[in-house]
Amino acid sequence: MASLTIQGIVLRRADYKENDRMLTLLTPLGKKDALCRGCKRPTSPLLNAAECFAMGEYVLYSGQGRATVTSCQLNETFYPLRGDYDRLRAGAYMLNLCDATAQEGEKCPEMFTLLARSLFRLAYTQRNIDVIVAGFLLHFAAVNGYMPRLGHCVSCGAEVTDPRLFDPENGGVLCPACSTSFTVAAPLRPGQKQWMEQVLRVGIDKYPAADEDPPVELLKKYIALRIERNIKY
Ligand SMILES: [Zn+2]
Repeated sequence: MASLTIQGIVLRRADYKENDRMLTLLTPLGKKDALCRGCKRPTSPLLNAAECFAMGEYVLYSGQGRATVTSCQLNETFYPLRGDYDRLRAGAYMLNLCDATAQEGEKCPEMFTLLARSLFRLAYTQRNIDVIVAGFLLHFAAVNGYMPRLGHCVSCGAEVTDPRLFDPENGGVLCPACSTSFTVAAPLRPGQKQWMEQVLRVGIDKYPAADEDPPVELLKKYIALRIERNIKY
């Protein structure tokens, strides 16, 4: 039996008994399930800590095979998401992607930081939603070890400067010579390869370009193939 104080973001919650909830948290130490007792009572100090998107310092007490939330210092609820359906939907997509890939007992500090920053951008900046989601997906791929290949053709290995096709199955761009034989590949518009390279290099906060055209649909498909699950958006 031990107590653990840890930063967490609520990915999922499930009602349990009359007033309790089972929370699934993303923490830098991996995914953790914890029972939150009495949190559905309007007077509970854990009321807001037991909602999706809640981020804070959770105190978890482990005993008898499961963890219980004993208290939480709430840092953020990303409240503005509640008032904007499109941003809420994008945020829920990010939570679900983290839920699908993070594992219990497997450290994931980069994924935790990426999720926290991306939710912050969605809730508190005016940045275009597709840009935020595409930036999230690119870095999500990178932190999970399947960064797309952007500089060289995934079929023949030739260097590519201005590719027009991306092969989501094989995880990267195709050169003009290989382009004809791959019908599954998705089109890349001019500048999209450069956009992805720059965002991977410096992050979307430092790469504010006018008329951005991020390949968001292509990246959604790419990630779905990598994690072998189609996450609803
Ligand atoms: Zn090629």
